[in-house]
Amino acid sequence: MKLYTLRQTTVVCPQCELVFATPIAKMPKLTRNSAVETDLHRVLPDAAIRASLIAMCPECVYAWWLSGFTPHFILPEMVADSPPIDNAKKFGHAVLSGRKSGAHSLDRAIIALNGYWCAREDFQPAQKWLELSARELYEALSDDSWHGNRGRYQFIMGEILRLMGEFHDAVRFYNLVDRRSVLPKELIDHQIVQAKNGDSTPTLIPPHIVEAIFLPKPQVIPTAESMAVGA
Ligand SMILES: [Zn+2]
Repeated sequence: MKLYTLRQTTVVCPQCELVFATPIAKMPKLTRNSAVETDLHRVLPDAAIRASLIAMCPECVYAWWLSGFTPHFILPEMVADSPPIDNAKKFGHAVLSGRKSGAHSLDRAIIALNGYWCAREDFQPAQKWLELSARELYEALSDDSWHGNRGRYQFIMGEILRLMGEFHDAVRFYNLVDRRSVLPKELIDHQIVQAKNGDSTPTLIPPHIVEAIFLPKPQVIPTAESMAVGA
């Protein structure tokens, strides 16, 4: 049985309302033994799987996360296909669509990073994708108006810079990551050492750290009621 599968699905373009067919992937659940790299992405076996996360309209070329397109009941065989395009290039179109539609730089940065991972999964040069990701993520981190796990993105910024060979700046960003990032200190310390050693190679995370970041044990969160009983 194949763990990863692709099939066609039908969606509506949110910009021009064209109904078209685009691939959709089914992926196995992440486990502690899944291949995950230190920039916190899961390694996929085929660039087409990652590219299916983006849908691109064949009429107006608007491209964005597939999840942002409304599903349609018509069979995919009955409607136009999404344009044939290199897997990684879809992410470039999505960054451009994001700029046109006023999407936040953090959203664009995550799309650019997926372009980088997709290019690598397609054995293509990835340097310009790293540069694009760095620009978009730097802009996002310079904006104080969003709250979310900034530490996690500071860490990813450190990773992008390390992968680019900008080791000094990488360490500067790793050092900004605090406990609120909920990232294991062991991982942050390891990446600081790797950057200080001038190592720009992509690196897999050991299973116990994959588990700590992505599969944390469920915690008992006190509800308003349980708090009131103790008061
Ligand atoms: Zn369209």
